[in-house]
Amino acid sequence: MSRFDAVFTAALTARQAEGRARALRPVSPAGPGRVSTPDGALINFSSNDYLGLANHPALAARAADYAAAWGTGAGASRLICGTLPPHQAIEARIAALKGKPAALLMGTGWQANAGVLAALLRLAGNGPGAGPELFSDALNHNSLIAGARLAGVRPRIFRHNDLAHLAELLAVPPTGRRFIVTESVFSMDGDRADLAGLAALADEHDAFLYVDEAHATGVLGEGGRGLCAGIPGIDLVMGTFSKALGSFGAYVAASRPTIDALINFAPGFIYTTALPPPVLGAIDAALDLLPGLDAARDALAARAAGLRDVLHGLGIGTAGSSTQIVPAVVGSEAAALGLAARLREAGLLAVAIRPPTVPEGTSRLRLALSAAHDDRDLAELAGALRAAWPALRRAA
Ligand SMILES: *Cc1c(COP(=O)(O)O)cnc(C)c1O
Repeated sequence: MSRFDAVFTAALTARQAEGRARALRPVSPAGPGRVSTPDGALINFSSNDYLGLANHPALAARAADYAAAWGTGAGASRLICGTLPPHQAIEARIAALKGKPAALLMGTGWQANAGVLAALLRLAGNGPGAGPELFSDALNHNSLIAGARLAGVRPRIFRHNDLAHLAELLAVPPTGRRFIVTESVFSMDGDRADLAGLAALADEHDAFLYVDEAHATGVLGEGGRGLCAGIPGIDLVMGTFSKALGSFGAYVAASRPTIDALINFAPGFIYTTALPPPVLGAIDAALDLLPGLDAARDALAARAAGLRDVLHGLGIGTAGSSTQIVPAVVGSEAAALGLAARLREAGLLAVAIRPPTVPEGTSRLRLALSAAHDDRDLAELAGALRAAWPALRRAA
């Protein structure tokens, strides 16, 4: 019993009444692209392990090597005595990969966005005049919104991927330094931002352009470098190691003064323990593999296009997906839950995503493809969708 259990229980009961209460369900890896669950083994279409690296032997081996060489924990925050040579080696590799002068490792992607964006906004608010202005895509990740909140900045939201709307908002005379924040690939829709268009607008309005590459790093761009590489005018690129790179942690890459300012002024970097050596080993091995994975990236893109065709054939929309993230947007929560349940019976894991994670009326299965799948796995998914959807559509 805790002092406020009655309060917590009341909140949970309200969630249950809405049919939106959630609970943790354990899974274990069970071969390529598969997990075992209490219901048996399922082909996993809900993981962000897009390249199948989370269970790659080279990553596990180097994680073990680094644990043996450097220990299992860094022992301190980076500025105290937690900076080991491998932290700096990975930072140099990320800076090179992203084509930026410098990079900084962060604890997680959530922490990176919340901590880095907040610190940059605070710094940009220094000096006379009003505070900074933040222009944020309507579908930006929760962590980016958290960064704005931490800095006490109320973001101006532009309609998703609508650069004309953004231009309209930017046309109002500025009251402070400006930031534009977007994802390069959107986590729930699987579509891409127009980065060149955003860079041009940022240039025109002297705005700092901040791009989250969580879902592009490793998967898209030449050699898996992401979508920002080669586009001038992007001030900061953020990404994670927790998705296609198969382990954990995050990074930002930017100019040397930007990175040095974060080292000195970002509480989300300063007051947390450095990434542990085994994780650095896994990252290092993933970065070694990345340039050689063109065939895997091509297969992933081809399978995603095939899956979109299947869904469109069933009359199911896929938002603006052009990547390995293919949302099957079915609309109602009941239809999404029903379809997820039917797929589960057929041996496929595809978790329903509902409000508040996505807007009302756009409940979906977020189908995430992985290089760990093969063509037969995709054929099974297509067959199960074709078998399940007609009855659900009639009931919807
Ligand atoms: C997953 C995600 C993050 C958070 O990354 P973690 O390393 O999992 O904390 C940040 N931004 C976007 C767009 C994401 O999808």
